[in-house]
Amino acid sequence: MNKFEALGLGEAIVKAVNEMGFETPSEVQEKAIPILLNEETDIVALAQTGTGKTAAFGFPLIEKVDSNSRITQGLILSPTRELCLQITNELKNYSKFIPGLHTVAIYGGASITDQAKQIKRGAQIIVATPGRMQDMINRKMVDITNIGYCVLDEADEMLNMGFYEDIKAILSNTPDDKNTWLFSATMPKEVSTIAKRFMSSPVEITVGHKNIGSKNVSHEYYMVNSRDRYAALKRLADANPDIFSVIFCRTKRDTQKVAENLIEDGYNAAALHGDLSQNQRDLVMKSFRNRQIQMLVATDVAARGIDVDDVTHVINYQLPDEIETYTHRSGRTGRAGKSGVSMVIVSKSEVRKIKAVERIIKKNFEKKEIPSGEEICQVQLFHLANDIAKSEINHEIDSYLPSINEVLEDFTKEELIKKFFSVEFSRFHNYYKNARDLNTAGDGGRDSGSSDGSTRYFINVGEKDGFDWMTLKDFLKGVLELGRDALTRVDVKESFSFFNTASEHQEKVLAVFEDFRMEGRKVNVEISKDSGRNRGRGRGRGRRDGNDGGYKGKRRSEGFTPKGKKRSNREDRGGQSGNGRRDRRKRSDRR
Ligand code: ADP
Ligand code: MG
Repeated sequence: MNKFEALGLGEAIVKAVNEMGFETPSEVQEKAIPILLNEETDIVALAQTGTGKTAAFGFPLIEKVDSNSRITQGLILSPTRELCLQITNELKNYSKFIPGLHTVAIYGGASITDQAKQIKRGAQIIVATPGRMQDMINRKMVDITNIGYCVLDEADEMLNMGFYEDIKAILSNTPDDKNTWLFSATMPKEVSTIAKRFMSSPVEITVGHKNIGSKNVSHEYYMVNSRDRYAALKRLADANPDIFSVIFCRTKRDTQKVAENLIEDGYNAAALHGDLSQNQRDLVMKSFRNRQIQMLVATDVAARGIDVDDVTHVINYQLPDEIETYTHRSGRTGRAGKSGVSMVIVSKSEVRKIKAVERIIKKNFEKKEIPSGEEICQVQLFHLANDIAKSEINHEIDSYLPSINEVLEDFTKEELIKKFFSVEFSRFHNYYKNARDLNTAGDGGRDSGSSDGSTRYFINVGEKDGFDWMTLKDFLKGVLELGRDALTRVDVKESFSFFNTASEHQEKVLAVFEDFRMEGRKVNVEISKDSGRNRGRGRGRGRRDGNDGGYKGKRRSEGFTPKGKKRSNREDRGGQSGNGRRDRRKRSDRR
């Protein structure tokens, strides 16, 4: 007997499942499907991303609805348009051999009247984003007063996105005796609140440990100065020539900026965030799936649920605000039994957050060093050699061979190899030969220490916050609980300031400002770059000029294009132009 049949699924679904090539039910499917088929119950199911949750609720839902009735019987709420479409597609595939069963997706940013028409034709199952669903209820375009099942998919993410009120309002339009099936990757307390409020004695199933990421993913962090984040990102990419990655930034602005810089520097990169039009987003996702884009720079919301296998690296350009979100990010790699790496670029002031993440994922991070220019050159060199060894010979050049041979006949094989590599490799080598060490020391070492034993800090408050050097000094003395003379060189600028303390206080200063708020605003203190530079101390080997501005300028004008990374085409750039141009959209469109 087929393993899906054994779970109690009917012939039509089993046939579709066979066609889709599913052979064995996943753990969450194995646990959830028999319960949902046999019992009329609420359920809370926790399973990490990529474990097949869609089928875990989709199969039973399809079995339960009556395809002979045109009434809407099942509602699936999901946080984004992409997920809505993904779920709808999956459901259509599952129900391929069930005539008369219609699943309709409703989401923001597309014609509401078209969607209303589709529903009018009869949709037993609706898959919706909460915002658009609310709209359609208010405009009486849908009737969900008779549904038997309501699925809250990616419940944690819907709550993260602020859909609580919408969900509450939507559920108030549904019958009390329906069953609610909640699926989530994580179980923050907001989700348990929902479970308590809107569900009655749900069965709870958990696959793996709560909140634990895939076991195929290893976690690494790299400590750099905030200012070197971008340079560090490039090195990580260059040290992994076959990278196929999702890079997470905290804001849409950073996402856009990092992607633009990468494109300018010759990488196949694109941005994915909520300010792009849907058309642009679709194009970006298409190029990513086809591997035309190697580095997809995305916001958490935009990348949520993206179902692309073979992602080799997830790079946390910045850690997420909500530590829980890290699990979702790292879940973009290590899918389908493959292994993956999740990398975090942190500044010294954030390094404590790594511990917090470790507690959540119950795994340890490995502290790694940003590769040196020399290492990268080595990696690239071997990569090139392997590429050459693997490439197929193009016989169209055969007819030119005699004259080419003539030009090259005086060289030995060894010389030819050297020459060939020099042609291909010099630019790479030139770019990296003077590259400095980007790693910062863990504890007031070479980066922040100084000959006079003091550390200089940057703080993001200044004159515009009403400070002058005396009031700032008093303020710092108060919060740091340091003596009169402990603070020196307090230097207040328009929107930021600098100050020094003895290096022995460095830990304490960073700890106090780790999560410090002033009138609700986050006050940020970082070790200032000036610490080293003003005293002319070189940091790390190979650093020749000590001036980052100059270094960056040089890099730019070089127009350096790493081997194998074509200049991006117009399509990639298509994804770049939406920022700031569109009107602010409604929440149903936000992602
Ligand atoms: P989740 O919602 O848990 O993140 P999905 O439902 O999106 O995961 O499933 C992830 C991928 O795995 C999809 O491409 C889906 O088609 C596939 N999949 C789901 N169940 C199985 C199965 N039993 N066997 C093989 N592939 C499956
Ligand atoms: Mg899912």
